[in-house]
This record gives sequence, structure tokens and C-alpha cells, in this order.
Amino acid sequence: DTYPVPDEKLFKVLIVGDPTVGKTSFVQRYVQNTFRKDYKGTVGVDFALKVVRTSENQTVKLQLWDIAGQERFTWMTRVYYKDSHGCIIMFDLGKDNSLENIIKWKNDVDSKCKAPDGSPLPCILLANKCDLPDKQVTREELESFHKQHNFIGWTETSAKEGIMVNESMKFLMEIMLRRE
Ligand code: GDP
Ligand code: MG
Repeated sequence: DTYPVPDEKLFKVLIVGDPTVGKTSFVQRYVQNTFRKDYKGTVGVDFALKVVRTSENQTVKLQLWDIAGQERFTWMTRVYYKDSHGCIIMFDLGKDNSLENIIKWKNDVDSKCKAPDGSPLPCILLANKCDLPDKQVTREELESFHKQHNFIGWTETSAKEGIMVNESMKFLMEIMLRRE
């Protein structure tokens, strides 16, 4: 007897945003389901791989590119962004002026890369650290902001508490699969 060979997809996903917003923590929570309080800055880019069985005959390999925030607008981002399928742009809900920087990240990604089918890279907006009490941006603002700047969606997340981490990745994954 032969087994049906499962269909295997590989997607490259960028995680960008300013330093300390929680990108590395988010990846760690998603891939290992752990959280560490001490801050270890990312230099350049960190890689992580998560294999998701989406159905009996399909697996998706997500290659996560956790890009150091200091890299913004340098020529290096063009190299990192190459051949991506999807993108997470993250900010810290507790900081004001976050949204201005989000626009800069979005423009950087849009100007330097496209999805394999030539359309803009699907980008999800994540408002991280929603476990903290002080929020600088309201849901109403984010609802209109994400539409205005052509994100596929947005949600609050907490890498610390594991809130909406799997769900947001699932949402992005389904969109990447649909565009395949
Ligand atoms: P990066 O520079 O964007 O990769 O940020 P890190 O993942 O290194 O996180 C920066 C700091 O924020 C660390 O001290 C984390 O423990 C903390 N942090 C990350 N995510 C959360 C979160 O969801 N809630 C809270 N309260 N702290 C977080
Ligand atoms: Mg980092």
C-alpha cells in the first residue's frame, strides 16, 4: 500500500516593527509556547520554523523572519523581504506615535516587495502588549487605520499571555493559502 503524499507548502512570513514591540516574543510564543521577560535584542534577523498540519493531506511550513527593528529603511530590508508570502507588522499598544512608525514600515514593505502573484504582500497589523492596562490607541482608530492603510486585518495580541497569537497566524496563513 502507498500513502498519499501530503501536500506541503512553504511560506515565508516577515515580522517587522520597531524595537521592543514584542516581535521575538510573539514568534517564541507561537513556535515554542514560551515567554521570557528579559530583553535580548535581535541583531539582523532571527529565523524560526513552524510546521502546521492544516488537514489530513496538507502541511504548511511557516518560515518566520523576525527582523531587528533597527534595520528599518536600510538597504538590508530589501534583502530580507525577498520572496515573502506574508507579513506581520507589529506595534506596542502602550506607546504613542506607534502608528506613525507603522505607516513607515508598511511603506517600506510595499515599496520593496510583492507577493509571488504580483499583488501587494498580505500584511496583518498586530497591536501587541494588550495585557498592559494603558492603551494609546482605541479600537475604533485601529479599525479605520488598518483599512486606510490596506492591511488584511488587525487584532490586539499579547505574546506574554498568549492572546490571539495562534489565531492571528491562522488568519494570515489562510489568506496566503487562498492566494496560492
Ligand atoms: P522585539 O524587539 O520586537 O523583538 O521585542 P521583544 O520580543 O524582545 O520584547 C521586548 C520586551 O517586551 C521584552 O521585555 C518582552 O518581555 C516584552 N514583551 C513582549 N511582548 C509582550 C506582551 O505581549 N506583553 C508584555 N507585557 N510585555 C511583552
Ligand atoms: Mg527581537
